[in-house]
Order: sequence, then C-alpha cells, then structure tokens
Amino acid sequence: MRILVTGGAGFIGSHLVERLLQEGYAVTVLDDLSGGRLENLGAVRDHPRLRILIGDVTDPVTLRRALEGVERVFHLAAVVGVPRVLADPLRTIRVNVRGTEMVLEACAERDLPVCLASSSEVYGKGIRWPAAEEDDLRLGSPTVARWAYAASKLLDEHLALAWARQGLRVSVVRYFNVYGPRADPDGYGYVIARFMDQALRGEPLTVYGDGRQTRSFIYVEDAVEGTLRAGFLPEAFGWIFNIGRAEEISIRELAEKVRAITGRSVPVRFVSFSEAYGPGFEETPRRVPEVSRARALLGFEARVTLDEGLRRTWEWWRVCRRG
Ligand code: UDP
Repeated sequence: MRILVTGGAGFIGSHLVERLLQEGYAVTVLDDLSGGRLENLGAVRDHPRLRILIGDVTDPVTLRRALEGVERVFHLAAVVGVPRVLADPLRTIRVNVRGTEMVLEACAERDLPVCLASSSEVYGKGIRWPAAEEDDLRLGSPTVARWAYAASKLLDEHLALAWARQGLRVSVVRYFNVYGPRADPDGYGYVIARFMDQALRGEPLTVYGDGRQTRSFIYVEDAVEGTLRAGFLPEAFGWIFNIGRAEEISIRELAEKVRAITGRSVPVRFVSFSEAYGPGFEETPRRVPEVSRARALLGFEARVTLDEGLRRTWEWWRVCRRG
C-alpha cells in the first residue's frame, strides 16, 4: 500500500514517514520545504519505497501527481509555529485552509481515508484543563495574529467533520507540544528545541514571561504512534483526538530540567512576551490534554516520560548538531 504524507519532510512528518517505511508501506512525501528539510529524511532518502515530491499542496497539478497510486493520506503540510504564524498570517491561513480543503476534496473524489493534523492551539486560552475534544474553545480576537493559526486549524476540523458526514473516512489529531529530534529551533517544537540549542551553544535559556505558564509535552515517537492509530483504525473515522501526554510542567521547571539533563550550567534569562513576540501578543497560560478518548478508541497512551524524551532529544542535539 502506498501512503501519501503531506509535510513529510517536516519534524513530525519525517518521523511518521520513517515509521511507515519500517512497517513495510510505500510512501510518497509531498513537501514544499518551507518548514521541512530534506535532511530530516536523510536516513531514508534512498529507500526504494520512498518517493519525494517537492511542491505546494495548494497546487492542483502537484497534488494530483502526489496522489498517484496512493491508498491512504496523512495530511501534515501546514504553516506551523508561533514565530512563522506571526511573520506571515496570510500565508498561514492560505496554506492551512486551502491546502486542507483541496486534500479533503481529493480524498473524497478518490474515496481515500485521510488523517488530518490539527493542534492543541485550537483550545486557545482554554476554558478548563485538561481539555477534552468536545470542550468549548476560547480564542482571542482576530486583531491578535497568533490566533490565525488556531482559526485556520479549527476551520480544517470543521471541513473534516463536514466531509465525514458525507461519508469520507477522515480523522483529526490535535497535537499537544510535540518535541524530539529534528524539531527546528526556529520553527515548530519550539521551546525545547530552543533550550537545547541554547544549552549546546552555552547561551542563556530564554524563558518568556515569568515562566509560570505550563505545557504538556509529548515525545515525537509517541505522537507518531497516536497518528498511525488515528489514521488506520476504522473506529477513528469521524472523530477528533487529543494526541498528548497529561503531565504538565511550567516553562521555568522545564528550563531547570534541560539544565540538569544537558549538564550545561547555562543561566536562565527571563524575556518579556513583548520583547519575544512584539507588542499585543497573547499567551496561552496553561495547556493540558484530556487523553481518555484516545485511550478508549485508539488504545493509545504516550509512553515516553519527559525525562527520557529530553535525554533522547539531547543525545540527538549532541550528535547531530555537534555539541
Ligand atoms: N517559550 C519560552 N522560551 C522560548 C520559546 C518559547 O519560554 O525561547 C515558551 C512560550 O512562551 C510558551 C512555551 O514556551 O509558553 C511553549 O512555546 P512553543 O512556542 O514551543 O509552543 P506553544 O505552546 O506556545 O505553541
């Protein structure tokens, strides 16, 4: 079976591609390399079952070519990461909405099952934590560019569920702060990649705000497992799943952990949100997933502890980025 992974040269995408190849599938990657990098596929680049297509998912001819011989789709191509969204909200909306609309239409025409990557960012500032898939959402005003990403992904989710009502086999995964090897310090998986990068260079770890804001981090290998289950299990179609790990940690504590695990005695530097992101930025003060639906319907549970995942990630940074 050939599987299309859009965004397959990205951080999560490349790990998903490796896993699918390991499982014996043939894989087509479609990526425009705006966020992804071919080096992310370095270990499998010459694999006989891998086809790599460089192009834009919103281009109909490219998308048609990418779908040749494909029986299942994972749609991960998107503009992601707070800095990229702030830099270009228009492109964020165009790629994330038009791209998904086109992929879903193409899958519906061909009757292909599809799993769509969304984000915990859709919960916005949150109403209650842990947040469950059917909870209400609380986004900020459209005058704050950050929310363009959440709004784009939310519209994607609406599209997916509307297509599910038409009989399309589609599932949605909402990722909660995925981290691990290959996360780009300038892009997605931001804070941990940045802290590792800073530790490696012997620079201060930049904690934004007072560092009391919390996140729940999931190691990429676990996120890939959850994605596979959501993409393959028939019980998943028509549903949205939180793909996360319920352990919550403040960014301040995270910085301490990174210092301990890397053994680099770099200082912590507190940076105001306006200095980091410009004036008027709105922060999400907490983010914790309710994981019971993924457990019940997918039998999915994240296994890698934060300590273990940070150790593995640091190992990669040391070896691949030469610390
Ligand atoms: N953050 C930080 N220092 C950095 C980058 C990010 O303190 O150098 C904080 C950021 O303000 C947020 C958390 O780390 O509270 C996670 O940020 P990230 O960009 O990784 O993802 P988000 O959850 O905000 O989408």
